[in-house]
Amino acid sequence: MTAARSLTTVAELAAAGLLPEAKRADAAAVAERYAVAVTPALAALIDTDDPRDPIARQFIPDAAELVTLSEERADPIGDLAHSPVEGIVHRYPDRVLLKAVHVCPVYCRFCFRREMVGPEGLGTLSAKALDVAIAYIAERPEIWEVILTGGDPLVLSPRRLQAIMERLAAIDHVKIVRFHTRVPVVDPDRIDAALIEALKASGKTTYVALHANHPREFTVEARAAIARIVDVGIVMVSQTVLLKGVNDDAGVLAALMRAFVENRVKPYYLHHPDLAPGTALFRLSLAEGRALVESLRGRVSGLCQPAYILDIPGGHGKVRADSLAVEEADDGCFRLRDFRGQAHAYPPEDG
Ligand SMILES: *Cc1c(COP(=O)(O)O)cnc(C)c1O
Ligand code: SF4
Repeated sequence: MTAARSLTTVAELAAAGLLPEAKRADAAAVAERYAVAVTPALAALIDTDDPRDPIARQFIPDAAELVTLSEERADPIGDLAHSPVEGIVHRYPDRVLLKAVHVCPVYCRFCFRREMVGPEGLGTLSAKALDVAIAYIAERPEIWEVILTGGDPLVLSPRRLQAIMERLAAIDHVKIVRFHTRVPVVDPDRIDAALIEALKASGKTTYVALHANHPREFTVEARAAIARIVDVGIVMVSQTVLLKGVNDDAGVLAALMRAFVENRVKPYYLHHPDLAPGTALFRLSLAEGRALVESLRGRVSGLCQPAYILDIPGGHGKVRADSLAVEEADDGCFRLRDFRGQAHAYPPEDG
């Protein structure tokens, strides 16, 4: 099972029976533009008899990705505007993103960083760039939390992860190290003792935020991988992207949130889909999303309630999409107030 390789080309997807003949030409055009990868674990999970399979929809290239709308942007949440040094995004005073790697085990068709990740993306931080990034953190006592994301940091070898963790361990003011990953679900065998050991740093608290979008992603192997992480005392939280045709259904969302809780992963964020290029096929309106989230209230335990979050286009940070910071205007548009109190239109005006 572990010996199998990920499928990364249209020919490989076709050979695995995951791409019908009629869709291959368009898929090839998509693959020219955006990275493709499907792990063996996910390939096995796809129901090829179901043309609307929610797992396939997340990972198999679709002709609709070739259409980019005017409101979509290459950097939808404004990472680049808040990147003081390579590999660091510093938007909020007390926490930074550390993007050591821009590779993922799978490439999600809706990815908000799709212009930065992949074999032709921003790559892996050089030793020198990593030194600069670590120095940036070390020099700023207000940084309480470091969030390793990317890309998916759990594609790094235990040795490289450990080297990063040792350097963070040496910085007194950093108390929390958080990893954002999809690996426990998409490549569960990778979660072995050496990798888990590398996630810990002396004197720091480790959190792992698991990205999963459909209850079927919780296979026996995925559940076991999650248990291995939680069993060593690492706290896990969830991250889900609300996606049309995948989980935009109260029953599916409820089952997904229950699956997280049953596996000791506390539901954390449900993200409204970002304005990434070629992802209109996945987007529902903010009004639709708010109605869905509202329907979860009372229906499932409070433990199963994630915060519904929208990243304000342009890099103004996150806002709770079901809170008073979001006001519906007469024309069906919304006004969002960012954490600094500034107002923004949503969907944003062009530009
Ligand atoms: C999302 C994000 C974070 C983390 O935000 P939390 O609300 O703490 O989960 C931190 N920095 C940046 C730049 C982000 O985009
Ligand atoms: S795992 Fe995350 S960063 Fe990687 S392609 Fe999926 S959404 Fe993008």
